[in-house]
Amino acid sequence: MTTPVYQNFINGDFLKNQSGETFAVKNPATDEVIYHVEVADSFVQNAAIESAKQGFAVWSAIAPIERSRILLKAVALLRERNDLLAKIEVLDTGKPWQEAECVDVQTGADVIEYFAGLAPAQVGQQQMVGEDFYYTRKEPLGICAGIGAWNYPLQIACWKSGPALAAGNALIFKPSEETPLGAIKLAEIFTEAGVPAGVFNVVQGAAEVGQWLTHSPDIEKVSFTGEVGTGKKVVASAAGTLKDVTMELGGKSPLLVFEDADISQAVSAAMLGNFYTQGEICTNCTRIYVHKSVYQQFIDELKTRTEQNIVAGDPLDPSVNFGALISKNHHNLVMGYIEKGINEGATLLTGGKALRPESAPNGYFVAPTVFTDCTDDMTIVKEEIFGPVMSVLVFEDEDDVIRRANDTHLGLAAGVFTKDIKRAHRVIHQMQAGICWINSYGNSPAEMPVGGYKQSGIGRENGIETLDHYTQTKSIYVGMTDIESPF
Ligand code: NAD
Repeated sequence: MTTPVYQNFINGDFLKNQSGETFAVKNPATDEVIYHVEVADSFVQNAAIESAKQGFAVWSAIAPIERSRILLKAVALLRERNDLLAKIEVLDTGKPWQEAECVDVQTGADVIEYFAGLAPAQVGQQQMVGEDFYYTRKEPLGICAGIGAWNYPLQIACWKSGPALAAGNALIFKPSEETPLGAIKLAEIFTEAGVPAGVFNVVQGAAEVGQWLTHSPDIEKVSFTGEVGTGKKVVASAAGTLKDVTMELGGKSPLLVFEDADISQAVSAAMLGNFYTQGEICTNCTRIYVHKSVYQQFIDELKTRTEQNIVAGDPLDPSVNFGALISKNHHNLVMGYIEKGINEGATLLTGGKALRPESAPNGYFVAPTVFTDCTDDMTIVKEEIFGPVMSVLVFEDEDDVIRRANDTHLGLAAGVFTKDIKRAHRVIHQMQAGICWINSYGNSPAEMPVGGYKQSGIGRENGIETLDHYTQTKSIYVGMTDIESPF
């Protein structure tokens, strides 16, 4: 059976490359190639820049309220095609339909809707300085680049294009080579909604195409989502042309469960923050610090619920709540971490093995895994695994657990469970992390800025301040008095 071949999406349409180079995309739940995609060669790259220049000229001249109307049409189309798009995400990522159907498309559409609303609300300042005055304009940057990870492909494309386009920029987006289709569908939707040609181009490929975006002199900004190591390369490369950068990177986030916590709620948070999207979420609370007095109760309930409530299998089956990892390579990497956990002396409470569910025997499944008796120096406690592997640790003292929780070069997220309102705020204020939850975990509404402290990121996505990352301020001084000149 022949599989479809998708081309790059440039200037409002598909564009055939000249090199003829393609890559294959597999369904992680079946290990089967589902389609091929053409790589953006230099012909496509040049076309992407030229059309983005023209797109930018048109789009940035459109009144923000009109841009807003167009973006809102795209939002309506996204919602209308929810199921079709969700299915693409399931086939590309291996995540359960149960999730994609109600999260991936909707949270993407929400963010575009949010920034569409803000587009006409952006204002500059005006101030008198003596009899003269100045005013400022918030102007778009020009051509921006977005580079995405594979865990929430469509959502990431929406989270980058929403603010970029609302502010009047053109965006060239490169999805992950593991999950390239969602961004193409988004490009079609933008075009259908009336976004002018060249304003949202999609280029396809792996690291080399990403690298090109980071050093192209015509690109003003790179918004990147991916691993810390790749993020460092992107920043270094972008420095060559002094591009703006926004970095949404990895984490190794702590969840602190105090003795007065609602333990069932804390277990729910720990499971969501380790097993949702089969553990492939950047903000996951992969280090769970539990107070000694409730430790046994916590791990007893965690073990029972993990073993009873998780249903792995064909991700398209609506009763399945736990999918396949993105690739064979990633599967091997996660299994390697599990082996290290065992070798370094952690106790395997549950899981720890590959799974072969009957309905998807060839998928890259790893059982939801919980390690107890973990110590801070173990590899599984220090490094981001990006799979369904939870480490549980014990603590006794508040100051000590805060110190331990912060003892990492990462700082994406953190959470605390306690019924003591003062302690909740006192502890969370000391967490060195950009996204924090009290008696909750994982929610990330469009209104709330998200991003990392330390090596987990630069800048923010979502929330009002994100528009500042996609605009530059022009100050205009207006002379109302004669110039005083010594010349
Ligand atoms: P990755 O860093 O391997 O790849 C991300 C993207 O960068 C891909 O599109 C890839 O093709 C591209 N790329 C690779 N090398 C490049 C280079 N040298 N220059 C430019 N682009 C390059 O990450 P991944 O494996 O796709 O995603 C998983 C990682 O993403 C995890 O670390 C996870 O924590 C992180 N992530 C972070 C967030 C966040 O919001 N903070 C969200 C999702 C994922």
